[in-house]
Parts: sequence; C-alpha cells; structure tokens
Amino acid sequence: MEIVCLLCQKSIIEINLYRLLTHRNQESICEGCVDQFKRINDYKFVCQMCQKPLGKNIDKCEDCQKWQNIYPNDCLKNYALYSYNKEFKTLIKRYKRYHDASVCEVFVALIKKAAIYQGYDYYVSLPSSDQHFKERQFDHIALIFSKIYTLTPLLNHIQGNDYKSQGEKNRQARLKSQQMFVCDYFEFSETTKILLLDDIYTTGRTLYHAKDAIRKKGFKGRIDSLSIAR
Ligand SMILES: [Zn+2]
Ligand SMILES: [Zn+2]
Repeated sequence: MEIVCLLCQKSIIEINLYRLLTHRNQESICEGCVDQFKRINDYKFVCQMCQKPLGKNIDKCEDCQKWQNIYPNDCLKNYALYSYNKEFKTLIKRYKRYHDASVCEVFVALIKKAAIYQGYDYYVSLPSSDQHFKERQFDHIALIFSKIYTLTPLLNHIQGNDYKSQGEKNRQARLKSQQMFVCDYFEFSETTKILLLDDIYTTGRTLYHAKDAIRKKGFKGRIDSLSIAR
C-alpha cells in the first residue's frame, strides 16, 4: 500500500513493519513537509501564558501583559502547537481563503504530531460566522478539531452583528473588537473544565471574548485554550 504525503504528494516509504501491519500512526505528511512547520516545543523561550515564541528570556509577551491588566485573576492559559511562520500562513490561507477543505487533514496530522491535550469536560471550537460558513460551506475550526475531540457547541455568533472578520483587521482594531459570541448552554458544575479551540492566536482577543461569553453564564470553573499556531 502506498502512502502519499498530503502536502507534496510524494510517496512516503513506510519502513516500520509493525506500523505498516497495524496501520498505527500512519504518517500522512512526509518529514520534509513537517520540517517546514516549527513546533512551539522546539523554542527555548516562550510566553508563559500563551506560548508565543520570544526572542529572549522574558516571562510574558506584550499581549499577555495587556490581558493581565484587564483580567488580573482570570487570564487564559493557552497551549500553542506551532509558530505562525510563513509556511503556516500559506497553509491556513489555502484552507480559509481558497476554501480547500482537503487541507483539513494536514492540520489534523500536524496536531497529532505535536500534542493532544486531554482531561477536559468540554472541547469548544470557536464557531465560524454565518457569512464565512456560507462562503466556505464548512466551519473551518470545527472541521479540524472534530477529527480529534468530541466537540460541544457552546458558542454561537451574536446574530445581526455586522463586524469585519478578525483576519481583515489590523492589530489595534482586533484588540478593540466587540464581543461576538454568546454562550448557549449554562448547566456547568464548579469542577467542569473547558478547553477552547482556535486556529491562530493573534492577539488573544477572540479567545478572551469566548471566555467572557461563557463566564457571563456564571461559569466559575477552569477555561484553558489551545491554538494550532501562535
Ligand atoms: Zn511532503
Ligand atoms: Zn503571551
């Protein structure tokens, strides 16, 4: 059986006989393609709160310093898997702008190669806006994470909100953007743990809006977040 790299279409020679026989951990992206993406774990210095790669040994990035002022006792612990480098940007563009749903499997493979965070009660992906859903015909974040986690659709976009997509805004405009989510479900217990799932952590604004929407329902338990890139 020939296995072909999802990105460059080159044949992957499977030399591990055990894996070949059991179909376990079948590689779906070749080593050359994987090497284009830089794992957060390979960086020496990262932000303690959001895992942004930092040039030197400081504990928090500028974004997180701002979040700490706004939410002194309720900052998000974000797990990031890859750095948001040129190759990652190209891949996400292919997925989101050109509506290429086949790229989804590449993200799934990249996540599996980095880390799977478990032990949460609810895995909540940030939903696409109605407009984006119509354009793409798929919810781009849920499509990826539904192949890894059982998702709970806790969040919805506030209807009738006429906002620009985060990607079209500059950094300052993103930080000031209005709440876009509403939380639909509110029967949580104190010990419930929620992991929010996003594709890219840019300023953290969207994830903090998601957290605020859940907190608004009176939830006092733990909310962490996971972004594929930072
Ligand atoms: Zn490849
Ligand atoms: Zn940070």
